[in-house]
Amino acid sequence: MDENEARKELVEVCRLAYGRGYICGVEGNFSIRLGENAVLSTPRGTCKGRLNPPDLVLTDLEGKLLASGYRPGRKPSTELAMHLTAYRRRPDVQAVAHAHPTVAVGFTVAEKPLTECVLPEVVCTVGAVPTAPYATPSTGEVPASIADLVGEYDAIMLDHHGALTLGTDVWDAFYKLETLEHYAQTMLVAHVLGGVKPLYASQVRKLLSVRGVYGLTRALPEDLLTSSRCSRPDPEETD
Ligand SMILES: [Zn+2]
Repeated sequence: MDENEARKELVEVCRLAYGRGYICGVEGNFSIRLGENAVLSTPRGTCKGRLNPPDLVLTDLEGKLLASGYRPGRKPSTELAMHLTAYRRRPDVQAVAHAHPTVAVGFTVAEKPLTECVLPEVVCTVGAVPTAPYATPSTGEVPASIADLVGEYDAIMLDHHGALTLGTDVWDAFYKLETLEHYAQTMLVAHVLGGVKPLYASQVRKLLSVRGVYGLTRALPEDLLTSSRCSRPDPEETD
């Protein structure tokens, strides 16, 4: 992808994420893979709603700084290692979003899972959303906590912390973040109204079989999604 275009798109996504309240203050970080061994990402300690294209920093896949944007001394995010873990493990991932969406994070604070299949759109795009174990932000514990999950999932919650989404481009990563928070809001409403009634296993199986219609070809863990952890057992057939 052209670097200038990537800079513009990354800044636009950051502004949208800030405007929608998925991050506040100087929180969150976003990145785009640029070629074999380069990643464009948001700089440390800045408000992502106020960035301009030259502000973004360029590193290699080990996190070594290649270009620090137009302000000298600008550094990559302390959470960049999490993005780099995703890029190293998943050659198909071209962009990563990390934010702190209120309702989805609230579920981890309440120790309630976001693995139930309730909305067709969510089942088709990200499947279930697992929660990685708690890790101290900005330390090596964070990339270690998500290392196994990024191999299989495109949307992951970080316990008592935030959300991580992976995409084929920066818009795909952003839409998954948006879908995840919308799903959490719907779940919250269902909890308030008396409880979540997940889709039946047969309904989930059917959804997975028609994903190709939407151009979604990445395999999802069907056994997990149709298990009692994620969906309802089908009612007994009656004569
Ligand atoms: Zn964070």
